Amino acid sequence: MIHPATTIRPVSPEIGNGVFATAFIPRGTIIVVKDCCDLVMTRAAFFDLPEVLRQSVETFMYHDKQGQLVLGWDHAKYMNHSCRSNTMMTDYGLEIVVRDIAAGEEVTTEYGLLNVQEPYALYCNCVGCRGALRLDDIDGHAGAWDEQILASLQSVEDCAQPLWELVSPNVRQELLALKLEPQGYRSVRGLKWRVA
Ligand SMILES: [Zn+2]
Repeated sequence: MIHPATTIRPVSPEIGNGVFATAFIPRGTIIVVKDCCDLVMTRAAFFDLPEVLRQSVETFMYHDKQGQLVLGWDHAKYMNHSCRSNTMMTDYGLEIVVRDIAAGEEVTTEYGLLNVQEPYALYCNCVGCRGALRLDDIDGHAGAWDEQILASLQSVEDCAQPLWELVSPNVRQELLALKLEPQGYRSVRGLKWRVA
C-alpha cells in the first residue's frame, strides 16, 4: 500500500501517469509497504495468462528477490523511474523516501532495484540521467543507493508513519535498531534476482 498523501496524475503522453505527493513527505517516511492485498504470482503463472492480459499488466509488475512477480493493488504501481529518485526499494519489504518530497512533486523510484529483466531506454531526462536501464545497474550502484537508504531508514522514528501498522513487528524492530547498529543494515544487493 502506498502512503495516503499521494495521488495519480498524467505526466505526459510519452510517460503516461505518475504518482504525486498531495502534502510534504519528509525523508525517512515509509512510502510503500508490500501488503497482503498485493498480487504475487510465479513467472510460470504469469506466462500462462492470456496474452492480452499479460501485456496489459506487465508494465505495472516487478520481480521480488525470489523472482516472483508482484502487482500492487493500489496506485503505487504508477510510480515512474528517476535516476535521482526520491524513494527507493529496500530489502525490508518496503520503499523509503530518500529525499524530502514537496507537496505537488512527483514521487519517483529507482527501477534498477526492481529486477527488470529486459534493458530499456529511460525518458526521465533527469540531471545525470543514465539514459537506459541496464540489467545489472544494481551491481555498480548498490553502494551509493545503500548509503542513501540507510541514512533515510535511520530517520524512520522522526517521521509520521501512516503505514507503520503494515510493517511486521520483526522489521519494525530491525528498523528502529539501525540508528545505533547500522552494521545490521540489509543491503539492496539482497534484492537482486535474475532469470536463470
Ligand atoms: Zn534518468
